[in-house]
Amino acid sequence: MKATYDYLIVGAGLFGAVFAHEATRRGKRCLVIDKRQHTGGNIYCKEVNGIQVHYYGAHIFHTDNRRVWDYVNRLVEFNRFTNSPLASYGGKLYNLPFNMNTFYQLWGVRTPAEARARIEEERARYAHIGEPANLEEQALKLGGRDIYERLIKGYTEKQWGRAATELPAFIIRRLPFRFTFDNNYFNDRYQGIPEGGYNRLIDALLEGSEVRLGTDYFAHREELDRLADTTLFTGCIDEYFEYCFGRLEYRSLRFDHRVLEDTDNFQGNAVVNYTEREVPYTRIIEHKHFAFGTQPSTVITYEYPDDFAPGKEPYYPVNDARNSALYERYRTLADNCVDVLFGGRLAQYTYADMDDTIEAALQLVDRELDRK
Ligand code: FAD
Repeated sequence: MKATYDYLIVGAGLFGAVFAHEATRRGKRCLVIDKRQHTGGNIYCKEVNGIQVHYYGAHIFHTDNRRVWDYVNRLVEFNRFTNSPLASYGGKLYNLPFNMNTFYQLWGVRTPAEARARIEEERARYAHIGEPANLEEQALKLGGRDIYERLIKGYTEKQWGRAATELPAFIIRRLPFRFTFDNNYFNDRYQGIPEGGYNRLIDALLEGSEVRLGTDYFAHREELDRLADTTLFTGCIDEYFEYCFGRLEYRSLRFDHRVLEDTDNFQGNAVVNYTEREVPYTRIIEHKHFAFGTQPSTVITYEYPDDFAPGKEPYYPVNDARNSALYERYRTLADNCVDVLFGGRLAQYTYADMDDTIEAALQLVDRELDRK
């Protein structure tokens, strides 16, 4: 019997939505389901007092990929937002990424030559460290004590929930120093936020697909599979295989969203990182600044790193040897599945920026539809 849909797409996040868009555009019938009550996955925005609140963490679109930039710009218009985060430590503010403004704030140096000389002086104190045994040694060797203690140590320890001396050195491979007065966090050519928020992008992508929200695939698995010839699964790969080899580990996050009715501008910037260990959150996001908002109120979000446990949102994969090996075992099972495709950050147990997610979805849909 012919199935009702060509594709059942599990997950209405960016990966599933791009796949659905391309498949629909080429005449395929798609049913997209999500266990959440909204589409968009982690790029979902909730509108509060006319402000687009990045509900699952700040999302800034940035890319060097021209094909992806053109693709999203055909669907929505992007604003000129440039990410220039600040770091707060000991009551002082520092510009990020590490650039001439930061060096001036740290040491009062005014020229690139002075900054380079100062960094070399700082580094020389740790020249005796051969192969760094942990993240602390690595950071001291690369940037010296001031940068490490004020801008790296506390933030990283909070992110990972472990002392820097217990974290592997490879987490920091290099410290990107910029010897110009340029606070643009990204080096990519294209950057911005969709006008009206990310939901507009997702809505445009899902046009023409049938969408069912509040639908957990695992609660209706057999019934849903029967509806379509092929399933694209963008949820957690270990869950798909009923954790048969064990659970993959994640770091989680907790967001405390607050509406400040009587404040129109709380911190003057979209992103402020808190780099002290004693401050429990890692950053405060003020959402209106992503869109140059002029509303009379504001919405801020405190972001807390959190241990992952079943029932919590899986945000960052832990790509250590144990988890990588475990993922490979699941991937082998996935490769042998007939009429099931796997894609997206959860099924591929990876961190992927939005541009890479879109590129990967475009490649998968091309391969899949060329095959048929
Ligand atoms: P998701 O968005 O996670 O979508 C997967 C969907 O599947 C979810 O909606 C989920 O509910 C659904 N699902 C899962 N299991 C089931 C099930 N059993 N049944 C039904 N539905 C299910 N990228 C950038 O480019 N710039 C940034 O600034 C940026 N910031 C980020 C900040 C944070 C905190 C995080 C975690 C990521 C950030 N990213 C950023 C990456 C970006 O979020 C991803 O590229 C993108 O969201 C991945 O889309 P996805 O569809 O693969 O996954």
